[in-house]
Amino acid sequence: MTRLLVSDLHLGEGFEEAIEQFVEFLATRAATAGALYILGDLFESWVGDDDRSDAAERVCTALRGLTGRGVPCFVLHGNRDFLLGPGFAARTGCRLLPDPVVADFDGERVLLTHGDALCTDDHAYQELRTMVRNPASQQRFLALPLSVREALAGEVRAGSRAHISRTVPTIMDVNRGAVAAAYRVARVQRMIHGHTHRPAVHELEVDGAAAQRIVLGAWYEQGSYVSVDRGHYELRALPR
Ligand code: MN
Repeated sequence: MTRLLVSDLHLGEGFEEAIEQFVEFLATRAATAGALYILGDLFESWVGDDDRSDAAERVCTALRGLTGRGVPCFVLHGNRDFLLGPGFAARTGCRLLPDPVVADFDGERVLLTHGDALCTDDHAYQELRTMVRNPASQQRFLALPLSVREALAGEVRAGSRAHISRTVPTIMDVNRGAVAAAYRVARVQRMIHGHTHRPAVHELEVDGAAAQRIVLGAWYEQGSYVSVDRGHYELRALPR
C-alpha cells in the first residue's frame, strides 16, 4: 500500500489557493492511498478546537471525508498548531500522534517528526517551544475566550516574523548533532520531517551507516508530498 506524507500546509484565512489544493489532494491522491500522515503545521495557527472559521471548517470537512472513506489519517503537532486536540480528532476522524514517532513502513522503522525540535541552534525559539508546550500554560491559554486567544496568537505570529527576519537562515535549519542523535535514539536509518521549508532528500552517514533524511516542503506556493511504496520513497512537488 502507498502511504502519503505532507507537512507545513499552513492553512487558514487568506490561504485560499493552498486550501483548495489540499482539499483536491485529499479527494484524489490521498483518497486512493493506504494512509495519510500530516507532519505538523496543517494550520497556520490553531488557538483551540472551538475554532469555527470557514478555513478550519473546510479543511476539517475534507479530512472527515477522507477518513470516512476508510483512509486512516495521522497528524503530528507543528509549532503553529500544537493546540490541535481531541475536539479536532473527533471532528475529522484523524488520529493525533506524538512527536517524534517511529512508523513501521513495510517492515522498516522510519522516524517521523515535525522538525522544529531539531533546530537546536535557534536558542530563542527552543526556549519559546519549551514554554508553549507546557501542559499547564496550554490549559491556562485554552481557558481564555476565543477572541482573546486569537488576538494573542496574532501577536505571537508578528513576533515570529520579526525573529525570522533578524535570524541568520542557517540558525533556523536543523542542527547536525541533533539529527544524528535522533537517528541513534530512535534506532532508524531514515527520517521524514518538515518545518524548515527546504524540501530535499539528504543522504548522510550516521555512525558509519548510510542514512536518509527527507524534508517535506511547505504549501505556500505549491504542494509537496512524499509517497512511500514498498521501500520506495519519493519526494514530489505539486505545482499549482
Ligand atoms: Mn513548522
